[in-house]
Amino acid sequence: MVYRVEWRADKPNATMEVYSIKNPYPAEIVDVRHITKPGSAKETINVDISLGNSGLTYVTGDALGVLPNNDPALVDSLIVALGLDASEVVDAAGEQMTLREALITTYDITGLKKSTLAKWNASAGSAKLEAILVDKEQLKDFVWGRDLLDLAQDEELNPHFTIGEELVAVLPKLTARLYSIASSPAQVPGQVSLCVGAVRYKSHDRARNGVCSTFLADRLKPGDKVRVFVHSNKNFRLPEDGATPIIMVGPGTGIAPFRAFWQQRIIDRATGPMWLFFGNPYKATDGCYEDELAPLVESGALRMSVAWSRDQDHKIYVQHLMDAAGAEIWQWLEKGAAVYMCGDANRMAKDVEQTLLAIIAREGKRSPEDAVSYLADLKAQKRYQKDVY
Ligand SMILES: Cc1cc2nc3c(=O)[nH]c(=O)nc-3n(C[C@H](O)[C@H](O)[C@H](O)COP(=O)(O)OP(=O)(O)OC[C@H]3O[C@@H](n4cnc5c(N)ncnc54)[C@H](O)[C@@H]3O)c2cc1C
Repeated sequence: MVYRVEWRADKPNATMEVYSIKNPYPAEIVDVRHITKPGSAKETINVDISLGNSGLTYVTGDALGVLPNNDPALVDSLIVALGLDASEVVDAAGEQMTLREALITTYDITGLKKSTLAKWNASAGSAKLEAILVDKEQLKDFVWGRDLLDLAQDEELNPHFTIGEELVAVLPKLTARLYSIASSPAQVPGQVSLCVGAVRYKSHDRARNGVCSTFLADRLKPGDKVRVFVHSNKNFRLPEDGATPIIMVGPGTGIAPFRAFWQQRIIDRATGPMWLFFGNPYKATDGCYEDELAPLVESGALRMSVAWSRDQDHKIYVQHLMDAAGAEIWQWLEKGAAVYMCGDANRMAKDVEQTLLAIIAREGKRSPEDAVSYLADLKAQKRYQKDVY
């Protein structure tokens, strides 16, 4: 444990524990609520978490690390498939606990890493798995949409461990997930909001759930504890000058840090205009923070452009709305606006960046190379910041 000395008039020699990724704080859940409507294919929840008297502080733009627990039902199925004793006491990273508890709280049983599979196969001795392990492409295909239960349920791949200690010896530890903090510390001091998309999919004939997103969505209620730490994100900060216009591009859960941004700017009475590009599949079910946004849009405090991608025959994404508003985006940039992007790194981030470059070239009458330099300059001036994952 790490402690820091904190001077307090009432307790001059008080010490406070310092919470971090290595020593997460058991924070209390204040509220968990769906913000998308029933039937949404983009099921999204807002989680409010109290930082209590942890001493943890954060700045608008930071993320929260959450250490999840595995789904007890999945743990039970794994123990049964491996023929192990759930009540066996094992050493879980230095702590004595039952095998069941260790698999719920301490070990990764869903992510199939090459190193885990290799250790697993030292006991299973499967020629099939051995062949997969030496072929990068086959390995990639094999691990996609599978977890340890798939291996345990396949007679050829079952390692027939005799005790739980053998299982935990091959498992990596459960890792924390990061979530952009979706609240300003000035809005509700000592509390953090997260905007979380529940990861659910079917693969190899079994319904599967993302570990942390569904831990938050399905298994926590007010008063429960969750292990957290603050992850500073110095490269995602509001401009120091509140008069600077900001353009925020955050489809899906990418809206999260922008809720923190608009809350902060309104509390600061910042005069710079704000423009939010949001997107999700359907207007009927997939809006996020609509009640909070409506009065801001109505009062003119925030301009909002929304891309409902599936509400018409052809798909419309945020980059299409940006392109259509290219002339105005260019004017904002020339007035010193800062551009922020948050959300999906795989496709959205690339498409949005390409669109920005196209706008700079077209509206700013620049060559493609000069558009690239213009964006690089924005980045160097901290006027183009990304938080993509
Ligand atoms: C800086 C940062 C900020 C973030 N902010 C947010 C945020 O504000 N909100 C938010 O919701 N998330 C955010 N994330 C993502 C978040 O950290 C988690 O990655 C996300 O919640 C999924 O975690 P999980 O434990 O639920 O899923 P995991 O158990 O980690 O499962 C996800 C994995 O499941 C597999 N998978 C998913 N779909 C399929 C499929 N259809 N078929 C087969 N396999 C599949 C993939 O291997 C995928 O990597 C952020 C990430 C970073 C790095």
